Parts: sequence; structure tokens; C-alpha cells
Amino acid sequence: MQIAIFGTGYVGLVLAAAMSDVGHDVTCVDVDAGKIAGLQKGRVPIYEPGLEALVRDNQAAGRLTFTADQALGVASAAIIFIAVGTPPDEDGSADLRHVLEVADLVGSAMQEPKIIINKSTVPVGTADQVRAAVKARLVQRGLADLGFDVVSNPEFFKEGAAVADCMRPDRIILGVETAGGRTEQVLRELYAPFNRNHDKILVMDVRSAELSKYAANCMLAAKISFMNEMADLADKIGADIEKVRLGIGSDPRIGYHFIYPGVGYGGSCFPKDVRALISTAREHGIDPVVMEAVDARNNRQKTLLFDKIRARFGSDLGGRTFALWGLSFKPNTDDIREAPSRTLMEALWAAGARVQAYDPKAMDACRQVYGDRSDLVLAPTQEAALDGADALALVTEWKSFRSPDMAEIARKLKHPVIFDGRNLFDPAVAAGYGLEIIGIGRASRP
Ligand code: NAD
Repeated sequence: MQIAIFGTGYVGLVLAAAMSDVGHDVTCVDVDAGKIAGLQKGRVPIYEPGLEALVRDNQAAGRLTFTADQALGVASAAIIFIAVGTPPDEDGSADLRHVLEVADLVGSAMQEPKIIINKSTVPVGTADQVRAAVKARLVQRGLADLGFDVVSNPEFFKEGAAVADCMRPDRIILGVETAGGRTEQVLRELYAPFNRNHDKILVMDVRSAELSKYAANCMLAAKISFMNEMADLADKIGADIEKVRLGIGSDPRIGYHFIYPGVGYGGSCFPKDVRALISTAREHGIDPVVMEAVDARNNRQKTLLFDKIRARFGSDLGGRTFALWGLSFKPNTDDIREAPSRTLMEALWAAGARVQAYDPKAMDACRQVYGDRSDLVLAPTQEAALDGADALALVTEWKSFRSPDMAEIARKLKHPVIFDGRNLFDPAVAAGYGLEIIGIGRASRP
């Protein structure tokens, strides 16, 4: 099948790679001409495990092409995905500018019927706005009778495992105007290669599909914020949250997934989606007490590691250097949007400290955001980040950080202390090397 995908970010590019890999013909469109020029030469601008090879292979096979020519993109396929960004507006609500730009463009350029599928995370009611924008252009062009359908098909993959999740989704939600209609049949055919093991397609009305995405992210964010609050309590009352985690995870109604305490959630989805749903709730006269608490706890959590560092080293950190392991908001991605590492670095700089950071994949992203500055060294290895540092802060639980040479850490740090933002290290093992671990919720009062 021929498809066009607008937006070649994390969602658009992974979707394009997966769709072309199962045999569909995919045209990717982006307004960022530089990104498209790079992709045309096989340069994948983001890191996702397995993505580069998939893009390269399908490009070579002629099933995956890239263009900055938007009208060409519209003409290339009857099925059009919208996978553009929906950043937060100043009040926290989702900014739909890019989504509506694409709708406007499709309405201005389409010559035959289209199915427009929204993959971006958008507030309930956006499909109606997309429909209205397309229709308005068609009416202007005297083509009011040209048929089109708008579908909500939210993306649920996890960054860091996006390709694998896209290839083997837990569920495929199709929010359609008419259940059982032709559009649903086309989408079932499109997704059939990803739906072989058992039927994962859930058909529902458009609004329920749009809300499902936000509800999923808010539920996951709530699990994290809840555990972080328990960790705070554990810290103060002399309990170990890691024991508590195992104690509660054994209940199948709770489960072990997604109950790790840490330095707060980041990335381009949870923070903005929680705030966007808060905004939607308010618009509809609902007092979003749970979601507000989830957001507030997370904001507090992101400063926790700095608070622990300050409690240990004092408020004036002038002349101090901290090694920082992990810049990305989670392992296996280069994405540093709203990453807790940034909150920590910015607080350390404001207090006069220097940072020596290392991340397996996010160094370029960090360089792009912060440029050259004298209080930031991007170290070539995790070990080099320790050279001359006062202490180590671990922010992201990359695999390569899990079993480091503790003796080397103890030897290199001026003060043998690790601020462990992910409870990666066993304090008893570290103590054997003379290292103190200050973790999250482990009764390790700073
Ligand atoms: P991104 O910022 O990585 O990419 C968005 C891309 O859209 C950019 O390349 C941008 O240049 C392009 N774009 C903007 N306006 C355009 C236009 N008019 N025409 C063509 N391209 C245009 O964003 P992302 O992380 O891929 O997220 C996209 C959407 O998917 C968001 O709504 C996000 O909330 C949602 N989402 C993201 C994830 C994730 O893990 N990143 C997961 C599920 C859903």
C-alpha cells in the first residue's frame, strides 16, 4: 500500500521504517529541509536501536523515500499519517499548529479521496478540527464533495524500544467515524503485517481513541510519581524503597513494571501529556487533582538529586566538579527533552559547580542544547568523566553503568560518594570499595 507520513521525528521515522519494512511504499515529508536532505543521504538524525539499519535497507530497496515537497507528499498516497510534534503551549495545553498545518495542506493539495490518520498525541476533539480544516480548503477550491476520512491512531511505543514496539505492538487503536466501514477495512489491511499473532486491533470512536493515549501516559506517570512519593517517605522514616518495591510488586494487581523510584520522569511525552490533560480537564470544568499531584511530585523529584548534593557539599558549589553519568531522559535513546539530567546540570551550574558528563548516545543532543561552555565537559568515556571530580551523580540507568569498576570510581573521586538517582548500585557492595551511595528512598539521609 502507498502511504505518506508527515513528520520525520521519533514517531514518523520509526513508523516509516516499520511500514516500509513490511512492504508498504512510504513517502516521508518534513518541513525541516536539512533533516530531509540528510535522510536522503541515509543519515538518520536520531538514535533508536535498530532504526538506522531499517531505514538504510528499505531506502535501498526503494520502499522508503524522503521529500520536503509537501504537495508531492499529499499526491503520493491515499493514506496520509500526521506524525508532527504537538509541543506544550504556554498554558500547558497541546499546541496543534503543526497538526493543523498538515490538515490545511492536505485540503489545499488533495485531488482524490484520502484517509488522514492522526498519530500525533492530540487532545480530544482534534480530529474534528482536522476535518474542519481540510473541509474548509476543499470548499474554497470548489471540491466540497471530495471524500476524506479522519482517523485517530495514537502511537504507544516506548522511546528506546520504539522499533521493536512498533513491529510488535501491544495494541493498535483505531478511532474511526464509522465502525466496520471502508476506512476501518483499509486500516486493518495496512496493519495486518503487525497483527498476525493475535488480533491486537481495538476499534473505537475517535474521541475515545484520542483520550486513550493521554490516559495511558498519565496512568504511567502516576505510577512513577506515586513511587517517588513513597521513596521520599521511606527516606524520612528509615525504610528502603527497594524492599518496598519488591514487597508491593509481588501483588499481581500492582505488578513489578514501572514502579521504580528515581529522579522523575522526563522526555517529550509524559510531562507534556500530563499537563495537556490537566488543561483539557480544566476546560471541561473538572478539577484534575490526581494529575496535578502527579505533575507537582515530578517537578519536585527532578530537583531531588541536587538537594542531596547540596545537603552534602553546601549551597556554594564554586570550585566543585561533579561527574554525571547519563544525559538522556532514559536509556537507549538520545532524547534529552525535559530530561532530569538537565535540571540537575542547570542547578549545579547556578550554584557555581562544573559538570563532567558522559552519555552513550546523547552527547550530540547535549552539545546542541548547551553549546560550548566552560562549566561543561563532555567526557569521551564514563571513566574519563570521573577524573578530578568531587563526586558522581548517576541520572540515567544505561546498561554500561550497571556494573562499573567501583575501585576505579573510589580511586578517582575526591570524595567517595555516588548520588545514585536510579538506585542502580548496591550500597553494601559499594561500601566494600569505600564508596557511599546516596540513593532515592533508601534511608540514606544526606
Ligand atoms: P519530533 O519533534 O521528534 O518530530 C516532529 C517532526 O515533525 C519534526 O521533524 C518536524 O520538523 C516535523 N514537522 C513539523 N511541522 C511539520 C509539517 N507541517 N509538515 C511536516 N513535518 C512537520 O516529535 P515526535 O517525538 O516524533 O512526536 C510526534 C508526535 O507523536 C507528538 O504528538 C508526540 O506527543 C507523539 N508521540 C511521541 C512519542 C515519542 O516517544 N516521541 C510516542 C508516542 C507519541
